[in-house]
Amino acid sequence: MPGQETPIDAVVVGAGFGGMYAIYKLRSMGLAVHGFEAASDVGGTWWWNCYPGARCDVESLDYCYAFDEALLDEWKWSERFATQPEVLRYADHVADRYGLREHITFSARVNGCTWHEEQRLWTVTTENGDEVRARFLIAATGCLSKPNRPDLPGLDDFAGEVLFTQAWPHEGYDLSGKRVGVIGTGSSGIQTIPVIAREVEHLTVFQRTANFTLPAVNRPIFPEYEAEIRADYLGHRREILQNRAASVKQTIADSAFDLTDEEREAAYEAKWQRGGAGGIPVLFADSLTNPAANEEAARFVRRKISEIVDNPETAEALTPRDHPIATKRICLDTDYYATFNRPNVTLVDLKKTPIERVSTDAIRTTDATYPLDVLIFATGFDAMTGPLRAMNVRGIGGHTIEEAWADGPRTWLGLMVAGFPNLFTITGPGSPSVIVNMIPAIEQHVNWVADLIAHMRKTGQTRVEPLDAAQEEWVNEVRRVAEATLYPLANSWYNGDNIAGKPRMFMAYLGGYPAYAQHCEEIAAAGYSGLELAA
Ligand code: FAD
Ligand code: NAP
Repeated sequence: MPGQETPIDAVVVGAGFGGMYAIYKLRSMGLAVHGFEAASDVGGTWWWNCYPGARCDVESLDYCYAFDEALLDEWKWSERFATQPEVLRYADHVADRYGLREHITFSARVNGCTWHEEQRLWTVTTENGDEVRARFLIAATGCLSKPNRPDLPGLDDFAGEVLFTQAWPHEGYDLSGKRVGVIGTGSSGIQTIPVIAREVEHLTVFQRTANFTLPAVNRPIFPEYEAEIRADYLGHRREILQNRAASVKQTIADSAFDLTDEEREAAYEAKWQRGGAGGIPVLFADSLTNPAANEEAARFVRRKISEIVDNPETAEALTPRDHPIATKRICLDTDYYATFNRPNVTLVDLKKTPIERVSTDAIRTTDATYPLDVLIFATGFDAMTGPLRAMNVRGIGGHTIEEAWADGPRTWLGLMVAGFPNLFTITGPGSPSVIVNMIPAIEQHVNWVADLIAHMRKTGQTRVEPLDAAQEEWVNEVRRVAEATLYPLANSWYNGDNIAGKPRMFMAYLGGYPAYAQHCEEIAAAGYSGLELAA
């Protein structure tokens, strides 16, 4: 821990992939940097979400850092989509390799960040009473790190175990022989349900909204494919950064209607068999802008559900009909729909029969009572803005982020916020973030911030803040791009819909990674236009 008297150069909040790389990068520039992390170790998402079945949905060979070729070369992934323990081992390896832990205080939740205009410093405090002053504040607090935990009527009366996918016990939990309920069928629920169904006596899945999910087709990585990538790993990385999602290109045509009906069906089928991220909805560039093109992909997946699930009533309940495919985050699964053919699995459609209350040993819906020993919440996050709002950030004149974002997040490029000088938000709202492969997005953000700080040090500047007009322009651009798509049509966490009272606004930039990264580069090349820099 740095002393409280002498200000340091930068405080980094969070030790997931964003915070770890920020600490590494700024330290390698010779800056005095310190990190705070609420968890007891590194890994962020992959430290917290250690529920059974958790794994990445971007291919492991691409879901990793590329800032050091030696690291790329030495780390070997064992599966196409790495499991949570494997991704966490990778984070652990990175922390060891670059000696990061000695610069981080763990089990330290930041509860206050205050800007002091005269000194041009941030004061950062934690719940443990730590206090540090720093020139720059890097919020690497994650897009999906503040859990959403619904308060169901009677929940406090439940005498069984309550577990959360977003904070699963690290020592594991033995579910064998138990009657288990899962609430939530987003990516986390859909990953964990097939795995725990094999373990428990009975599983009851409480589904509010049927979600589209596609087969991951997880497997060991094909050695020939890996060899091909490893022959020029950095070249491969540069190549995928030319694609919208900063991962392997999936799109085969501009429009779903460039193909005949038979060709399109064959393309969907081939993709279904091959599995993988993004999948069927990204095969055609118009799938998320043209309702008719989207409906073709949705129809294909709905047919698959009806073919896989034996009971027609269950199949219908599992069939999404209220949103265009992929406008809620598309899920990737292993045996999800087939799990509902198991005799020990029951699906409860909460749209038809809502939960009335939880009792000591059951959930009662308007229709029936489901006895339970364990209740698992897979209910997601207060995404994008939640972690930043929770940090009690006070900028110029003591104004808070809460106030600045009362009508939804307003940022400059998802990187900075007017009124909050020298604060950087890694993959903040208004950047491509959750829409793309996030580790390259994190590297791009951290590199850009590091370049700006280097520029400021070289030119003797101590304060940087986005201009209001530049921020407004970006907010409007994010909105304009989103409104040209089908995404706003869904009731989703992308729009803030999952949190009561959260302003509705599409929170990520949908223009794609390459366009965004190029825009950031152009701004730097133009001497940081849109920013006010001061000595
Ligand atoms: P995080 O990993 O969320 O780390 C942020 C850290 O900040 C956390 O450890 C948190 O404890 C800490 N923190 C927050 N607030 C405070 C505070 N006030 N004080 C102290 N510490 C604080 N993305 C993909 O691209 N591909 C995937 O396959 C993928 N799979 C995912 C699977 C799951 C289950 C989840 C939840 C997300 C997934 N994501 C995926 C998104 C994932 O969050 C990012 O890929 C990436 O791990 C984010 O890293 P980060 O460092 O930005 O944030
Ligand atoms: P999520 O997508 O927000 O899903 C939460 C689920 O809980 C939804 O089905 C939601 O229903 C339900 N829910 C919430 N509150 C409820 C309530 N009060 N009563 C009943 N149901 C309720 O959250 P998530 O599954 O944790 O995923 C969040 C994001 O994390 C993903 O979209 C993805 O970006 C990332 N992630 C990725 C992976 C991966 O495959 N690598 C795995 C997990 C997470 P409604 O839909 O009706 O709101």
